[in-house]
Amino acid sequence: MDKIYENKFCRLAITYIFNICLFLGTISYVCALRTAPGEVIYLEGLEPVCIHCNNWQPPRSYHCLLCNKCVLKMDHHCLWISNCVGLYNYKYFCLLSLYAFIGGSIFLAEFYYVYFTDMSIVKSWDRLFKGLGFILTILVPSMIFNTIQNISNIISNTTLPESIKGVEGFNLLNCLRRYKATYNAYNLGWVHNVEKVLGKGFLIWFIPWNTSKVNGYEYLTTPSKRETIPVNTKQEGKYMEEVMKKYKIEDIDYDELAKIQ
Ligand SMILES: [Zn+2]
Ligand SMILES: [Zn+2]
Repeated sequence: MDKIYENKFCRLAITYIFNICLFLGTISYVCALRTAPGEVIYLEGLEPVCIHCNNWQPPRSYHCLLCNKCVLKMDHHCLWISNCVGLYNYKYFCLLSLYAFIGGSIFLAEFYYVYFTDMSIVKSWDRLFKGLGFILTILVPSMIFNTIQNISNIISNTTLPESIKGVEGFNLLNCLRRYKATYNAYNLGWVHNVEKVLGKGFLIWFIPWNTSKVNGYEYLTTPSKRETIPVNTKQEGKYMEEVMKKYKIEDIDYDELAKIQ
């Protein structure tokens, strides 16, 4: 740690990384807070119907008791952003968790390095700064679990409620109990799964800008357990063809598919 602290290049690099995390983390926070997570449009005569709001419930949507509405591809209701995390703000929430974790870890490393090596500086710190350090000491370790869970959900194309229910993927709670994983029909392979949430192109993954084209009412599923016919955009059609190729499925009726498109 001494060497890192005294090396000018390392200090500069760490300062840059910290400031980038602070900048992108703040934007992600504002976007996660201000973006509507995905309200279900009201339609009559469709099933299943939500027992709380009597609206129909598209696949992967859940009713949030705090917001009192059904949310598309709902993950959870987050008290930190006072908003549901769903289809349209999930990327922002994941980036917020990631940047808060990296930025918080850098802050803590430096905080405790100075705390244990230079008391003269520590004495000059005011209470607010010390308090911030100790609060982050509790928060940052818990962010590790949150970040791992988010990354796992993105890679396996699951949501938090699905992973708790035991859909194939990873859930921290499920690591502690015995359960039989159920088939994850939404898993299209990790590259497609990641692109569905974070967008296309490696660099765009880390920018708080949502480019995902998923409509939230129908989802591509792997053909062996297809629950919906999900193709209603050209882009989705392209994905579908690739998935069919990957799973060597030939039973799709392209004329039927064209009608739906
Ligand atoms: Zn509802
Ligand atoms: Zn909510």
